[in-house]
Amino acid sequence: MRSLPVNELRLCTIASGSSGNCVFAEHSGGAILIDAGISGKKIAEGLKHIGRNPSCLRGIFVTHDHTDHVNAAGIMARRYNLPLLMSRGTLEGSRHKLGKVARVECFRAGDKFSYEGFEIETIPTPHDGVEPVALVLNRGKTRAGVLTDLGHKFDALREVLATLDGAVLESNYDPVMLKNGPYPAYLQNRIRSDAGHISNEEAAQLVQEHASARLKVVLLAHLSQNNNTPDIAMKTFYAKAEEFLKGEGVKVSVAPRHEPSPMMRLRFG
Ligand SMILES: [Zn+2]
Ligand SMILES: [Zn+2]
Repeated sequence: MRSLPVNELRLCTIASGSSGNCVFAEHSGGAILIDAGISGKKIAEGLKHIGRNPSCLRGIFVTHDHTDHVNAAGIMARRYNLPLLMSRGTLEGSRHKLGKVARVECFRAGDKFSYEGFEIETIPTPHDGVEPVALVLNRGKTRAGVLTDLGHKFDALREVLATLDGAVLESNYDPVMLKNGPYPAYLQNRIRSDAGHISNEEAAQLVQEHASARLKVVLLAHLSQNNNTPDIAMKTFYAKAEEFLKGEGVKVSVAPRHEPSPMMRLRFG
């Protein structure tokens, strides 16, 4: 007897943090990358590590024009003949980093569209890119968010969090480490500002206050190299999202900086 195919939406980070971001997402019919902020070589290595080949990719979605998200997008597009998906502003802001690319599918922040079997919802964020977005991937009724470089806790973020089954969620900095760390004041202020990043505490609060019982997997992501540690991010989450963590079958982990995270598997259909 043939077994039925498993209907799963699967996601993992290939690399995560201020040093470079790349998320892999797939369903049984195809895969995409979300951001390509490390080197092409590292992305290929990461894919191999999770048992995938770049030939499974159908495109690269770029959330915004910062180098830790765009770095190898142009190289990967040329090397594997992949279309890029990005907002018009992201294209404007990253043209010089991309080089010559054959195909770019542009959208406006806030647009929803289908791509290779994914229903993609883009969410405009108040981060300081040209036209930055966070996104939700849908398969059936199953919803996974890729929510990094968020600026601050804005209303649409609260709303979307209540609808998710899985989330890659920014947990960028520990305020005490940031204050006592090596960054000059202007850089500290940028990170803390409404157009910068969200802290460990803010990430935990978002989940604690706005996630619904359907949220089962949280991957804390985009940790700062200088102003955070996986241990502090996790401890803060456990301290501030206590009620959420009482939920049945809830899994929380920290996305490793330089290697792939465990695969998030969300059933659908
Ligand atoms: Zn950014
Ligand atoms: Zn970033």
